[in-house]
Amino acid sequence: MKRFIVGSNWKMNSTVEESLSRIDKIEELLGDFKAFPIFILPPFTSLDAVSKRLQNRWIKFGAQNMHWETAGAYTGEISAPMLKELGCKYVMLNHQERRVYFNETNRTSNAKLHTAFSFMLQPILCIGEEDRASFSKTKNFLEHQLSELLDGLKPEEIGRILFAYEPLWAIGESEAAPADYIEQVHKIIRDKLSTICGPEIAKKTFIIYGGSVDLDNALDIALQTDVDGLFIGRAGLEPEKFVTIIKAVY
Ligand code: PEP
Repeated sequence: MKRFIVGSNWKMNSTVEESLSRIDKIEELLGDFKAFPIFILPPFTSLDAVSKRLQNRWIKFGAQNMHWETAGAYTGEISAPMLKELGCKYVMLNHQERRVYFNETNRTSNAKLHTAFSFMLQPILCIGEEDRASFSKTKNFLEHQLSELLDGLKPEEIGRILFAYEPLWAIGESEAAPADYIEQVHKIIRDKLSTICGPEIAKKTFIIYGGSVDLDNALDIALQTDVDGLFIGRAGLEPEKFVTIIKAVY
């Protein structure tokens, strides 16, 4: 079994009660499964209850976003120390929906990355092109995006980032990106990481895929050599599907 991780972004779904009952069901279906790490990203309002529920459990959790400042006049925002206080292991940054609907940019995500490391939060950094274009365009886009996002970070910090390749054109669709395409893109990402922080760190860095992962494509994608995990949206809201995918790729 190669190294692997599976996570789910719950987006703006679930009351506290729904979050807890989904976790109950996932744990029941998982049984004593501990073959690789699993994480969930519930909405902010569920984090406190999820934190209490998941204490000392196999499933880890994190937040879907945060502000780059640690406190201040930023109405409606959530800071890194607030997430740390709740026991979050992860914070997701730069998700395509944050970019499209809330004007997030490489610059703001870079600032958030620096803050995440100051608070020992492990970033799940979403990257990916917007349109399905030629391979060379995708390569240029990703190389540029990575340079901007990772600006000023130490190589060892970059090695702790969980990179989630999520092309916008494959999110919320009926089909994921083709497995061989994902493999090629993950190689581009790893090559770029190698030029930024050296081959040793790049080799060890986790790069996972997200975008319409479901029962019918998970195994194919997971079997690609350069895919270190799956990041699941809609299918992660259904415990049976989520756990079936986890057990299928093991
Ligand atoms: C996502 O938006 O992070 C995602 C992976 O969504 P979906 O699986 O629903 O395409």
